[in-house]
Amino acid sequence: MQKLPLYSICSLHDGAAIIKTKNLNKFTQLIAGCLSLSVISRTRPHKWCCHGYKFSHVKAVRDLAGPDIALKIDSNQGWDYPTAVANIQTMAPLNLEYSEQPLAAWDYENIRRLRDKVSLPICADESVFDEKDALKLVNLGAVDYLNIKLGKSAGIHTALKINAIAEAAGCKCMVGCFGESRLALSASAHLAMARPNIHFIDLDSAYSFKQDPVEGGMTYDDKVGGLIHLSDKPGLGASFKQEFLSDGSKIVI
Ligand SMILES: [Mg+2]
Repeated sequence: MQKLPLYSICSLHDGAAIIKTKNLNKFTQLIAGCLSLSVISRTRPHKWCCHGYKFSHVKAVRDLAGPDIALKIDSNQGWDYPTAVANIQTMAPLNLEYSEQPLAAWDYENIRRLRDKVSLPICADESVFDEKDALKLVNLGAVDYLNIKLGKSAGIHTALKINAIAEAAGCKCMVGCFGESRLALSASAHLAMARPNIHFIDLDSAYSFKQDPVEGGMTYDDKVGGLIHLSDKPGLGASFKQEFLSDGSKIVI
C-alpha cells in the first residue's frame, strides 16, 4: 500500500478526488457491492459471496437467498483439480456466478485445465498479486476474472496495471478487500468507480468493525444493501478520527 498515499497527496494537491486525477475518470455515483454471509442479516444485498466448500453448504445459501440474488463461491484454494471439477459440476443447478480461487494459488496449469473442463467462469484471487501474475494468467487462458485487492497489489499503481492487462485480454476484474477499515476501502472504491472493466465489488469488511475509526470516505447505503456511496472530496476523502490516533505514531510529509 506504500504507493497509495502518493495518489492521495497528488489528488489533494489538485484539489480533486483520486478518481479525477491520474487519468482516472469517475463513471458512476453508486456501485453495487458483493456482501459476504456475515453481513446479510444487516443488509439486503443483491449479490452474496459464499465461502463454501460443499454442495450442501452452498445449496443452503441458495435456498436462503432465493433465485434472484447473484451468488458466487470462493473456495480459497480449498480444492484439488478432481475435487474442483466434481464440486463445480455438482453445483451447476445452484446457478452460481463464478468460482473464485478453486485451486492452490501456484497451480496455474490446473486452473487453466479446470476452466476448459467446466462451464462456470473462474476467478483468480490469491494467484494474482501483480501485473506479472495477471499476464501469466491471461496468457494461459486460465481465468475469466481477476480479483484485485490493494493489499495484494501494494496500492493503486499496480492495480491499474493488472486491470489494464485484464481488459486487453477481455478479462473482467473484481475489487476485493482484506479486514480493512473504510479508509482503505475508500481507495478501492475510487479505483472501482474509475475503471469500467471492474465489474465485481466486494468491499464489506468495515461491517466487521465494532467501532468505525474513519471519518469521510465511502459509505454503505442505508436502504439498498450492496450499494456504496463515495464523495467528491479531495484525495481519498477519508481520514482516521483523531481519538483513534492518540496512541499511534505520526509522520509529517
Ligand atoms: Mg477470495
